[in-house]
Amino acid sequence: MAEAVAVAGAGPCVFCQIARSSTSTQLLHSDEKVVAFQDINPSAFKHYLVIPVEHISTVKDLQRRMEDYQLVSHMLDVGQTLLRRDAPDSKQYRFGFHQPPLNSVNHLHLHCLALPFKPGWKCIKYTSLGPFGGFIKAEKLLQKIKP
Ligand SMILES: [Zn+2]
Ligand SMILES: [Zn+2]
Repeated sequence: MAEAVAVAGAGPCVFCQIARSSTSTQLLHSDEKVVAFQDINPSAFKHYLVIPVEHISTVKDLQRRMEDYQLVSHMLDVGQTLLRRDAPDSKQYRFGFHQPPLNSVNHLHLHCLALPFKPGWKCIKYTSLGPFGGFIKAEKLLQKIKP
C-alpha cells in the first residue's frame, strides 16, 4: 500500500478519504455536508474532529458569506451534540480551528474537546493566547465570517 502514503501537495487528502468512508475510521456522524470522527491522537477526555465533506483547506479559505457561515455553524452544532451525548459530565467544552501555519492537516477541521486536557500540557495547542496562539475559537470565527 505504498501508493497510499500521502505526500504534501500531492496524492489523496487523508480527510477527504475519511469523508468518503474509504478508510476504516469510524464515523460518529455523517450527513451530506459534514462528517465527525475521533482524533487519532486525542488531547482531552473526548476529542473529536468535524470536517466538511467538500475539501476546504484552512480557515483562510472561508469568506464572509452565508454558505461558509452556515457550514461552520453546522460543524459546531454537530460537535456540540456529540460532546453533550458522549461527555455530559464534562463542565468545559472547547471548539475551534488551527490557523496556518499551525494546522496539521490541510483540510478544514473543527477540534471539539471535552476537558480536561490529557496530558495537561496539551492545552497550549488549543489556546488563542501566548506563543502558540494559532487557535481560533469557533464562535470567534463565526463572528468574523458572519455575512
Ligand atoms: Zn481534503
Ligand atoms: Zn488541528
